[in-house]
Amino acid sequence: MREKLLALAALQKVDVEVAALKKNADAYPKDIGELEQQLATAKAAVDAERAKLDELEKQRLNLEQTISDDKDKVKKWEGRLTEQRSTREYSALAREIDIAKKGQQTMAEEVVELGRQATIQREVVRAKNVEFNEKSKGLTDKIAALKEKLTAAEAAVTALDGARAQAANAVDAALLKRYDVVRKKRMPALSPLVAPGVCKGCGMKLRAQMYNTLVASKGFDSCPSCSRIVYAQEVLDEPATK
Ligand SMILES: [Zn+2]
Repeated sequence: MREKLLALAALQKVDVEVAALKKNADAYPKDIGELEQQLATAKAAVDAERAKLDELEKQRLNLEQTISDDKDKVKKWEGRLTEQRSTREYSALAREIDIAKKGQQTMAEEVVELGRQATIQREVVRAKNVEFNEKSKGLTDKIAALKEKLTAAEAAVTALDGARAQAANAVDAALLKRYDVVRKKRMPALSPLVAPGVCKGCGMKLRAQMYNTLVASKGFDSCPSCSRIVYAQEVLDEPATK
């Protein structure tokens, strides 16, 4: 009976190891996702500032085009000034030209103002970019390190597949079935009873008689409280003799 217990304990050792690796491996994708989100947010912040700069440049170019068009128009009007037959018509057109030129002056001032704002904004973009590059370097390194760890953990789990199969093979078939059923609900599924009969799995104090029986049989039973497979701790503690 003791051999059966030893084989099962060996299997559980592998399962505990696999569970620990999987727990780590499961945490990595979430951590990686969070870091990637931070990276995307930092990138979006730079893009937003750059979009503001683009908008200023666009406004400035549009305004310059408007001024240029307006100047062409005024040039034509000026050409027509001499063709005016009456003084009234002449002054009317001259006034139009004057108003248009004042408008151009105002727009030219706006162009300068937009240029000034663009210069400031260009500096904001540059600073944001530096900030992003620094941040992104750190984040990218962290993401790469986590991905490496994830791959390693997954490889370690795969590597234990063989060890698990071998250990499972050594366990009595009926006992293995029972263990696998309990294992799906409670880990560890195999739990020692500590003298005089406390289940280490759930902490329930069981009858001393159960403990004594398990010491004598060197066998196993089910904990009536948590259903774990239990054995008397001293059975596996004693030196390996048959
Ligand atoms: Zn229990």
